[in-house]
Amino acid sequence: MSKACEPLVNISTSGDPDLAVVAVGKFGEDARYAVETVDALDPPKSRQQKWIINLSTQFGCPVGCPMCDAAGAYHGDLSAKQMLAQVSWALARHPGMAATCAKLKVHFSRMGEPALNDAVCQALIDLPSLVKSPGLMACVATVAPKGRKDWFARLLEIQRRLYPKRFQLQLSVQSTDAAARRRLIPIPHLDLDELSSLGLTFHETNGRKPVLNFALAEDAPFDPMVLSRHFDSKHFAVKLTPINPTARSEQHGLRTRLRSETEAEVDDAIERLRNMNYDVIRSVGDPKEDEIGSNCGQTLRMILGRTQTTINRPANPTRPPPSAGNRMGA
Ligand code: SF4
Repeated sequence: MSKACEPLVNISTSGDPDLAVVAVGKFGEDARYAVETVDALDPPKSRQQKWIINLSTQFGCPVGCPMCDAAGAYHGDLSAKQMLAQVSWALARHPGMAATCAKLKVHFSRMGEPALNDAVCQALIDLPSLVKSPGLMACVATVAPKGRKDWFARLLEIQRRLYPKRFQLQLSVQSTDAAARRRLIPIPHLDLDELSSLGLTFHETNGRKPVLNFALAEDAPFDPMVLSRHFDSKHFAVKLTPINPTARSEQHGLRTRLRSETEAEVDDAIERLRNMNYDVIRSVGDPKEDEIGSNCGQTLRMILGRTQTTINRPANPTRPPPSAGNRMGA
């Protein structure tokens, strides 16, 4: 396993400072313990208005989503210190900015599935001591693996205690169809009703609605009526994102539905959702993001040439094992 005391050494920085800079850093000499961290903006907002730091929680990812290059390897979990070292890297790039930033969003959503790493909770506890900012908010994006009830209970306790009104849970749903969800999230995961129950507990005391994320693949059903049967628009927002052109999405033949040929169909779904009072975010992203490899795991793959899947099973037996089936060809 990684040496938690090794410092983060930046081995590559790429991207556009006006959009997103992706760093690849290593803890120690072993190339397996490399991570990606993103220092990003939300144009046209200035960094002082909104600053996003997106960090990795695992060395690779054991989940194996077919659209994600982070799934090309998994070598264990980061410690809380290793997660915060990534935040320190980003803070050091803009000295003094945190103190005046209106919204500094630390996003636990780069490489790795946060809910499979117990140390994420400790990192969230320690984060406010590191980031002295009135705008600090934390965001955790998860596929909601089964068997992690205690982890989510701890997360909820931390959210209530340390991040009142300053926390967002993002649930990666991907489709309204159970079979498509099994294909796109190839580990045991909460079904739509279970996701709804989980999300509601986070919205009870928190001002921000949990976000239902759908990376819309062409052949994955997305039915607003099904969504509305499970998720109350008073408590959930919906975010539609493209399937990005990663190596793995190409290997798995995944095409995005957010493109010109299918735009009318997506527009119709958005209109139906808005008519049902959902807040809907359509996040197309800047084409430059693809050019600079700002999709999860892309930069590390390019730097380290990770094209083969090498999975070390998680030591924690309560975690679901990764599915081999969806890793073929990775
Ligand atoms: S999308 Fe997230 S959960 Fe899925 S493989 Fe990538 S990092 Fe892991």
